[in-house]
Amino acid sequence: MKLTNRSAQINRDPMTFGEKIYLPAIAKGLSITVGHIFKKKATVQYPEEKRPFSPVFRGLHILNRDEQGRERCTACGLCALACPAEAITMEAAERKAGEENLYREEKYAAKYEINMLRCIFCGLCEEACPKDAVYLSETVMPTHYSRSSFIYKKEDLLIAHPHKQESK
Ligand code: SF4
Ligand code: SF4
Repeated sequence: MKLTNRSAQINRDPMTFGEKIYLPAIAKGLSITVGHIFKKKATVQYPEEKRPFSPVFRGLHILNRDEQGRERCTACGLCALACPAEAITMEAAERKAGEENLYREEKYAAKYEINMLRCIFCGLCEEACPKDAVYLSETVMPTHYSRSSFIYKKEDLLIAHPHKQESK
C-alpha cells in the first residue's frame, strides 16, 4: 500500500539513440540556463547595493538625549530587568548640583553596558524603558575581531549632543 502519492515509477526501458548521445538533454539544460539569464536577478550586489530594511527591523541600540541634549536614562534598571538575555548592566549615580544640563533626572547611569554577544535584538529593553532613553536603531551590528569589542559602553551607545552637532 502506498503511504503517499509522491512515489514515481522508474523507467527501466533501454535508452533511445537520442538519450545515448545526450545532446537533447544538454540542449534542454542550456535552454533552462539561458531562460534564467533574462529573468530578474534575485542577488543583490552588496555592499554597493543595499536591501531596504523591514519596518520592524531592530539593529544596534542607541541611548537617547532630550531636546536640550541631556541624557534621558535615569538608571532605573527596567531595561536590564526586561532583558531575557541578561545583556544589560549599569551603575547608577546621583546628579550633582550644576549637572542639570547633563542629566535630565536626579539619577543617571554612570556606567551602562550592553553585551551584544548576548543580545537577541528582541527590543524588550526599548519597550520597558519609561524615559524613551534606549532605542534599537536601523544600524546593522558591525563585526569585530575580539569579544570585548562587542561590549558596548555608554560612550558607544549615547547619541551625539544635538547642539554640539549643530555647531560643527
Ligand atoms: S534587545 Fe532584547 S536581548 Fe538585546 S539588550 Fe534589549 S532586551 Fe536584551
Ligand atoms: S534605559 Fe530606560 S529602562 Fe534602562 S535604565 Fe535607563 S531609563 Fe531605565
